[in-house]
Amino acid sequence: MPEQEKQIVVIGGGAAGLIAAWKAASMGAPVLLLERNNKPAIKILISGGGKCNVTHDGPMDEMGKAFLKREERFLRYAFHSFTNDDIRSILAESGVPTFVQPDGRVFPESLRGNDVVGALVDRVRTKGGEIRLNARATGILSSDGTVAGVTVEGGEIASRHVILTTGGASYKKTGTTGDGISWGAGFSHTIIPLRPALAPLRVHPPIPTGWRGIAIRGGRLSLSAGGRQIDSWLGDILFTHEGISGPAALGLSRSAAVALEKGDVALCLDFFPAADFTELDGELRRLILAGRGKQIGSVVCGMLPDRIVPFLLGIIQVPPSTRGYVLTRDARRRIVGLLKSWEIGKIAGIDMDRGEVTAGGISLDEIVPQTMESRNLRGLYVAGEVLDIAGPIGGYNLQAAFSTGFVAGMSAARSWLESV
Ligand SMILES: Cc1cc2nc3c(=O)[nH]c(=O)nc-3n(C[C@H](O)[C@H](O)[C@H](O)COP(=O)(O)OP(=O)(O)OC[C@H]3O[C@@H](n4cnc5c(N)ncnc54)[C@H](O)[C@@H]3O)c2cc1C
Repeated sequence: MPEQEKQIVVIGGGAAGLIAAWKAASMGAPVLLLERNNKPAIKILISGGGKCNVTHDGPMDEMGKAFLKREERFLRYAFHSFTNDDIRSILAESGVPTFVQPDGRVFPESLRGNDVVGALVDRVRTKGGEIRLNARATGILSSDGTVAGVTVEGGEIASRHVILTTGGASYKKTGTTGDGISWGAGFSHTIIPLRPALAPLRVHPPIPTGWRGIAIRGGRLSLSAGGRQIDSWLGDILFTHEGISGPAALGLSRSAAVALEKGDVALCLDFFPAADFTELDGELRRLILAGRGKQIGSVVCGMLPDRIVPFLLGIIQVPPSTRGYVLTRDARRRIVGLLKSWEIGKIAGIDMDRGEVTAGGISLDEIVPQTMESRNLRGLYVAGEVLDIAGPIGGYNLQAAFSTGFVAGMSAARSWLESV
């Protein structure tokens, strides 16, 4: 083998690429990681609002269940090869201890994504891996069904082992412009259509401008099309200048994007999912009685953020100034009906680039889950978000990138060791 082919080339220095490079280098393989930006892993830096929700706590089988069935099956081997405890251990060894929040999300104690990136970069370099910044790969070379190298701006790098970790196709300004996905298509890989996931929802009619920044804790958003509910998500909801964000809206965005391709999708909010209609009606009656003639607007303001109450009561034509003791049973039940099921409107759009994750990508059917090697091109290993994987919020996506990156790095290094 010519001298210059004796290295593993990793394309993309994000979560998957850094772990792959570290693992391969720690097994003794020479590793060159190409990162197009002037710093690695920008998405880790901005993840969790800069605090980096690095993984999720709990058994790995449970972690798998957070993904779609086909993703869960594919990830099983990787999740057991490199677990949430493994990423926490290597971070702790590098001086970045982590902690678990009550909801299971894991963060660095410092709450700085920067520390996570620093630790991963250090590990690659300590094991002798080279990280080349400002180095954009422009394609993958092949010969006779085997990888032959990588093209870069201004040249070629020969290699028989290439790990593709270029990420998804959203948040393009972070460097993820979908390069690897289009190269995959060039090697006869099936590309599952790209859609936004974990993205805010734009709605029509637009949310009143005065509502910006208002949060609803623990509501249930649901989607319906053709009169049938297609998905629902429990969690906090945030009204923004664009529409609706927060965990519940982000959680729905993947199925909303699919449904939107077929027609209109309606969005509905249950402000109090823990109570059924009768219980909520009982609670409202109690509050009205306790209010001793208070205006109904003030009573409902005790249940919801003040700014949204006049608008909501307007929808069901109940004047907020109505005194509690003159409110009819029918009007009270209309209020409860609205609190349980407010039809916000139709989904007007979901911006691809605003997806924290890209759903779709290189089909899992053509990647061997135990090695991450392509079934179509020998010597090409694929890991992370470039694959058709998109988990929910909570640290699942970084863990999927770490685990698949680990398996790709390990398999590429094994194959490299056999070849020398
Ligand atoms: C705002 C935001 C917040 C998020 N928060 C969380 C969170 O808290 N927890 C969580 O689990 N997930 C979070 N995610 C998702 C998570 O960051 C990604 O799923 C994860 O980073 C994917 O890892 P990856 O290595 O596959 O891709 P990336 O981390 O995107 O890395 C891909 C790398 O490849 C480089 N690259 C691309 N093309 C080329 C090329 N041609 N040549 C060289 N380099 C190239 C890119 O510059 C990039 O550095 C968040 C995402 C966003 C956008």
